[in-house]
Amino acid sequence: MPVLCSSCAEKRAVLKRPKTGHSLCKDCFFWAFEEEVHQTIVAAKLFKHGEIVGIAASGGKDSTVLAHVMKLLNERYDYGLELMLLSVDEGITGYRDDSLETVKRNQQQYELPLKIVSYEELYGWTMDAIVKQVGLKNNCTFCGVFRRQALDRGAIMLKVDKICTGHNADDVAETVLMNVLRGDIARLRRCTAISTSSEGDGVVPRCKPLKYAYEKEIVLYAYFKKLDYFSTECIYSPNAYRGYARTFLKDLESVRPSSIIDVIHSGENLSVRDGVKMPVQGTCNRCGYISSQALCKSCVLLEGLNRGLPKLGIGKHHRLHGKILSQQPLTEKEERKLKAVDF
Ligand code: SF4
Ligand code: ZN
Repeated sequence: MPVLCSSCAEKRAVLKRPKTGHSLCKDCFFWAFEEEVHQTIVAAKLFKHGEIVGIAASGGKDSTVLAHVMKLLNERYDYGLELMLLSVDEGITGYRDDSLETVKRNQQQYELPLKIVSYEELYGWTMDAIVKQVGLKNNCTFCGVFRRQALDRGAIMLKVDKICTGHNADDVAETVLMNVLRGDIARLRRCTAISTSSEGDGVVPRCKPLKYAYEKEIVLYAYFKKLDYFSTECIYSPNAYRGYARTFLKDLESVRPSSIIDVIHSGENLSVRDGVKMPVQGTCNRCGYISSQALCKSCVLLEGLNRGLPKLGIGKHHRLHGKILSQQPLTEKEERKLKAVDF
């Protein structure tokens, strides 16, 4: 006997919702998924009427679903937003060039303006070149730091008021776990926030409309809607630590599906005791971007690449920032330590 949709009780159920276990027909699943994103947006007051919103688009499932749902909800509920797609080209041959083709098709399908900013134009380095110099162990540190700033720079060029990213519930839960395991209180506090206000000049506020959407449901939504997305993994993605957090979370989910939301709620409810020392946010003396040190992470990483000392931005070398800023040479011993790629 076919199972009927537990919501409309008319059509045949075609899936079991990973988040709730309900058996639903396609249309009722679409509706439930879209309404939950809408509720997230409304409850957290993510947007204001008239705002220009840049959707960070990589061509992957999350950002493709985000672009699709944002466009749909903007029309259905008259949010009054001007939407744009914003992409970063990290310069990864065989991966990003292909996924950007997907973004370009999405641009046509959703009729949204698209801006692509590249690492090469912003930093003078592609990820291909960076990996050649630093190897495959810390490449994602460079990539992540550069991407954050690249998105801000692109957003400023487009004059958007806000950036929304496709981070889903699984991503947020993974980040909570990673920050707990590392004891990184400052990041732990920030990572569950659904939106960030502007932290200074050059930093555009960001939000995560898919924060409570399960990855499995995003995949189902994209599949049943037949959305055009790119599903290949980055060729440089060892990113081991996140991988372990991910596997652990998936194990928890298989025993208890609510684990993902439970971990997010735990992160949201953790508070930092008064008097705990937190990093003070200032600005980078070189580029003006937010930084808790004299130089921002991006400038230090870039300096390391340009000097052929890739370790400069990995680990703690804050005491060298003054020397870099005043363009003083490093000692032979300092150079030797920073040159090795055995990290
Ligand atoms: Fe960049 Fe690493 Fe992501 Fe590849 S896996 S896009 S190198 S952060
Ligand atoms: Zn800087």
